[in-house]
Amino acid sequence: MTNNSSTRLLSEITEDFKGYLQYVKGLGYAGVALSENSLRILDNWNKEAMAETLDMIRKDLGNCQRCKLHVGRRHIVFGAGNPRAKLVLVGEAPGYEEDVQGQPFVGQAGQLLTRILGAIGLTRDDVYICNIIKCRPPVNRNPEPDEIAACIPFLRRQLGAIRPRLICALGTFAAQTLLGTDTPISRLRGHFHTYEGIHLLPTYHPAFLLRNPSKKRDVWEDMQKLQEAYENA
Ligand code: URA
Repeated sequence: MTNNSSTRLLSEITEDFKGYLQYVKGLGYAGVALSENSLRILDNWNKEAMAETLDMIRKDLGNCQRCKLHVGRRHIVFGAGNPRAKLVLVGEAPGYEEDVQGQPFVGQAGQLLTRILGAIGLTRDDVYICNIIKCRPPVNRNPEPDEIAACIPFLRRQLGAIRPRLICALGTFAAQTLLGTDTPISRLRGHFHTYEGIHLLPTYHPAFLLRNPSKKRDVWEDMQKLQEAYENA
């Protein structure tokens, strides 16, 4: 076994163990008595000793065939941008152009996203851009639960590797998936929520904005909040 894969497996085991401890805590057990030193090591486990890089995650993803979307795809769209970004933007799924080029948000919606970022003083190289799933669903249908289940662990690991200060969830799908809710985007947007301790701001998807230009004002208000949080992060 390589160092990278044993690192990942150990990391998965600690995450499982953490989940179990949270479960027993919920049942009323006080927990396990650990020394100060052990607590410090556990606290830094994922941050230092077990830190994965995006390259390691990409390698592990390989020529992914974990779900049926691999059959029709041209490229896996892993994500792009600054691996140390303070801000990660998460969309839904690659569309036609993204599938052809292997890059996220490079079609019409992507061009609008680039302009929205520019309006708050950011370039695509400042941020990291990715999606809930990495392969294009046929005729741009919504991702299905088995596809999300197969893909989301990789996004979670990417977010764990980048450890951004802020996440902007673009559209219903990204916001609801990351927050584990079915609350409509119209109610989620405009407010900061948390994903694994990271501030997460949902806003409308740029493709939705192209179809509903009257929502531009809402997105502009959201972007001003995002800019302020970015400057203070
Ligand atoms: N829409 C998305 O949600 N993601 C992309 O990468 C492109 C369009």
